[in-house]
Amino acid sequence: MKPKIHPKYDKCTVRCACGNTFETKSVKDEIRIEICSECHPFYTGSQKTVERGGRAERFKKKYGME
Ligand SMILES: [Zn+2]
Repeated sequence: MKPKIHPKYDKCTVRCACGNTFETKSVKDEIRIEICSECHPFYTGSQKTVERGGRAERFKKKYGME
């Protein structure tokens, strides 16, 4: 059994494109993301979700799933 060699796993600041920051644990000091739980359509219920829903509905109709 080899001992696991792992990099420093420490506190990490995640910066989202929306300006939100939060901390997590990572080998990186900082992570930049484009979407987070604060601005993700799934959580905000913004139009993007509606658009996706519409596409899914069309898909279902096209293949006779509904
Ligand atoms: Zn965000």
